[in-house]
Amino acid sequence: MVCEIIEEIHEECGVFGVYHAEDSASLTYYGLHALQHRGQEGCGIATMNGECLTAYKGKGLVSEVFRDEQIQALQGEYAIGHVRYSTAGGNEIENVQPLIANLEKHKFAVVHNGQIVNAKELRIELEKKGSIFQGSSDSEIILHLIQQGKGSFSERIKQAFQRLEGAYACLVLCEEGIFAIRDHNGLRPLAYASYQDGYLISSESCAFDVMSSSKEITDVDSGEIVWFHSKGITKEYYRKPQGVHMCAMEYIYFARPDSVIDGINVHEARVATGRVMAQKDKESGVSADIVIGVPDSSTSAAIGYAKESGIPYELGLIKNRYVGRTFIQPTQKQRERGVRMKLSAIESLVSGKRIILIDDSIVRGTTSRRIVQLLKEAGAKEVHIRIGAPAITHPCFYGVDTSSFEELISARMSDAELCEYLKADSLRFMEISDLIKAYQSDALCTACFSGHYVTKLFSYGTIIQAFYESHPLK
Ligand code: SF4
Repeated sequence: MVCEIIEEIHEECGVFGVYHAEDSASLTYYGLHALQHRGQEGCGIATMNGECLTAYKGKGLVSEVFRDEQIQALQGEYAIGHVRYSTAGGNEIENVQPLIANLEKHKFAVVHNGQIVNAKELRIELEKKGSIFQGSSDSEIILHLIQQGKGSFSERIKQAFQRLEGAYACLVLCEEGIFAIRDHNGLRPLAYASYQDGYLISSESCAFDVMSSSKEITDVDSGEIVWFHSKGITKEYYRKPQGVHMCAMEYIYFARPDSVIDGINVHEARVATGRVMAQKDKESGVSADIVIGVPDSSTSAAIGYAKESGIPYELGLIKNRYVGRTFIQPTQKQRERGVRMKLSAIESLVSGKRIILIDDSIVRGTTSRRIVQLLKEAGAKEVHIRIGAPAITHPCFYGVDTSSFEELISARMSDAELCEYLKADSLRFMEISDLIKAYQSDALCTACFSGHYVTKLFSYGTIIQAFYESHPLK
């Protein structure tokens, strides 16, 4: 039996950098490979060799865009790279990063993960001052702000990032080295590790593990610039840090289980959410024969649930791993048209069983409904859905592609209505307090579950206002 999936949520991008290594382009290539789950639409690498900046980028997976000859042509000891999934701006080649600009006859390059919430306002201001934009990505604003700054390059970077609101983890490559910058609310991950006599910088620590000798991991702090240069590292706060509000969805869904983000191992965090869900079911007397996780991101939570409850974990659903990347597209139309991911149920395992089905989130609800149908067609007696996250009731404006209320089924339906729609026997989401308990940390952004955004939303605020006006009870 086969289930088509046409909904998933996506991270915007991943960034990777190498400071001071002979084979910087090749190391960046492997780093981007490790971050491929963060974006499949396009990728690119820029290297700096003395005063000469060289870049190569294209649409597609890292392994499709780069061949040996491209890597060999990228000379230099510093490099930055990017994998892209677009939430702001389309997936045109102009928006594929690194973005490159000139400053007084010298080139610099920028890669960015996240979303700038005051992008519209800044773009209008910059265009009035004569800036000409090549693409529609919000990341291009950073180039123009740096160009319009005053003083040394590091001064210009500080001035530029002081103007940005929202979520960003950025790397800037120039003759003076690499600058790593994280937003002052700590919404997106960015860390670095020593490597031989230089450094690696990455959205996720899983990319460091590819280069075996890099184990000392340091997170770039909120509001901090870390400058990697010929004399070592210079750290500076360009803006007063407002604490860390790490995107909870990084732990729930986006990040690789082997990554450690802000000191929390992603796999362990997910296992702990499974345990919390099982404790709640124990309290309310829910019982079942097997626990199944929707592969792959829910496997860790399903293991945690099984360990805590004593109910055996079974591999009841199989994911087809050889699905084309056309499935991962930025618009609903493209998603529906694209190649579909396939799931199969193992009939002999699920037939006649009461199942606890662990999933990481419900966005539009179509996938969950089909999975329930799939399991029931395979003979499941009961399907109890447990979601390792609170219900997503609000859009994200920080770099995740849930930017409207229309696509969020929990913004329109109560849990009971949703359970009925999914044709499940029961449905339970986690509470935000459960997440905090599981992660043993409240340094989280949970805006898409609560509507409490950590920044001002600028023009995006009208989306929230319009929704509340049309749904006065929300
Ligand atoms: S709103 Fe949700 S998806 Fe967006 S950054 Fe916050 S937790 Fe992550």
